[in-house]
Amino acid sequence: MKSLWSKTAQLPEREQLDADLRVQNVVIGAGMAGVLIGYLLQEKGQEVIILEAKEIASGQTKNTTAKITSQHGLIYNDLIKNVGLERAKGYAQANEAAIQLYKEIITKEGIACHFEELPSFLYSQKEEGMQKLKKEAIAAKALGIDAEYMRGDKIKDLPYGVMGAVKFGGQAQFHPLEFIQALASKLTIYEHSNVLEVDEHFVITDQHVVVADNIIFATHYPFPIVPGYYFLRQHQSRSYAVAIEGAGVPEKLDGMYYGIDRGALSFRHAMGKLIVGGGSHRTGKKDKMGGYCYLREQVKRYYPEAEENACWAAQDCMPHDGIPFIGRFSIQHDNWYVSTGFQKWGMTTAMVSAMIISDMIVGKENPYAHTFSPQRLLIRAGYQNFFVDVWESIVNLGKGIFVKKNQKCTHMGCALHWNEEEQSWDCPCHGSRFTKEGESIDNPAQTMLK
Ligand SMILES: Cc1cc2nc3c(=O)[nH]c(=O)nc-3n(C[C@H](O)[C@H](O)[C@H](O)COP(=O)(O)OP(=O)(O)OC[C@H]3O[C@@H](n4cnc5c(N)ncnc54)[C@H](O)[C@@H]3O)c2cc1C
Repeated sequence: MKSLWSKTAQLPEREQLDADLRVQNVVIGAGMAGVLIGYLLQEKGQEVIILEAKEIASGQTKNTTAKITSQHGLIYNDLIKNVGLERAKGYAQANEAAIQLYKEIITKEGIACHFEELPSFLYSQKEEGMQKLKKEAIAAKALGIDAEYMRGDKIKDLPYGVMGAVKFGGQAQFHPLEFIQALASKLTIYEHSNVLEVDEHFVITDQHVVVADNIIFATHYPFPIVPGYYFLRQHQSRSYAVAIEGAGVPEKLDGMYYGIDRGALSFRHAMGKLIVGGGSHRTGKKDKMGGYCYLREQVKRYYPEAEENACWAAQDCMPHDGIPFIGRFSIQHDNWYVSTGFQKWGMTTAMVSAMIISDMIVGKENPYAHTFSPQRLLIRAGYQNFFVDVWESIVNLGKGIFVKKNQKCTHMGCALHWNEEEQSWDCPCHGSRFTKEGESIDNPAQTMLK
């Protein structure tokens, strides 16, 4: 199943790493985060190479919906309550700065990537949603975002009525692969160069060793279990998208839309098509409101004559406290950096990662580093998610003892669940996925099923 982006952009192939190297910086992973980190490091005068296990953008990035926004669901009112005004402001301002930097890079490099500035809307169809949206608008405004609450009757783009919405001005959308292709053309990237191990300054692939001053893990989910302990700090959630066209389907919208109610849909337009997203669920634990089946039911209900042009799915890491991990990988390694936990908003947070990590490496103070520091303590509100994840891991590790070897995740040994719709084995603990034949599709697992 190919996303609309993969169907409309072909990235040139790159060579495999074919020698041992000594470099200043090695980035592991050539998704949006790895490429942006590589680009900003190079812009700051650093020598960089990127090692990619498969192909450029072949991870989650090729299957995003590519809204560039600081509107990450209903978050700001909660963030102020949970982490205080200063850190909530850090989160908001960093993501707003990321949008500006996209604009600057696209202009400076002259990148044709269907970039469009548009407002972004959070909406609710429920009475109780209105209060939440009103609070969110006040919170976002207090953090410096151009936010306003709107009555539902002002929203005309959606196929159903809504009770209310929060509009963020100055947001954007683009074609992620056209963008990444332009930046990648300026960088040294080795494809099919899977990193198996990292030890101090050594980055080891199956055939070669790269010695680097700094090592940046931009692998979506960091693969080392220890140090960092990221497997205890986040789980993965999967979401689905379809691109539709035809009778009754708008070719262009006045904004990008994201619903806050359970089972709600998201919308944006792209190249004359409408992208509808939804069906989210914890990876490895699909319920009746998760997956393609649910999403297609909704599409059929609201656009009965639509034709499906493309469908795709992706997953992202969901940190317990709602803030990505960007910065030093662990206190044990001064020269290791990480960017993960993008909670389905990795277009802006990949840019935030690039801003923070490149500044840290060149020794420049970054105003947002503190907010996203992986060394922060877990806040009280994050404990509930932590216990849910620990329980899920205990249950599935236990089940893992009794299942066949080829149904046991190669990351930590949890029992895998069969995903009938996508014909894959999915891990409910940390989100690794495997094909029917046992090939690894999504990390953190590094190796195929036995
Ligand atoms: C359905 C869906 C819709 C989304 N829509 C939006 C949106 O509208 N706006 C938004 O901001 N965000 C969105 N996101 C989130 C966004 O797509 C992701 O956060 C982002 O693409 C992650 O980029 P990444 O570079 O961290 O990861 P990836 O793109 O997965 O890149 C990681 C790369 O590392 C490589 N790698 C892994 N392990 C190794 C190894 N050992 N050696 C070498 N290479 C390795 C992988 O092959 C991969 O290419 C969405 C997410 C989902 C699930």
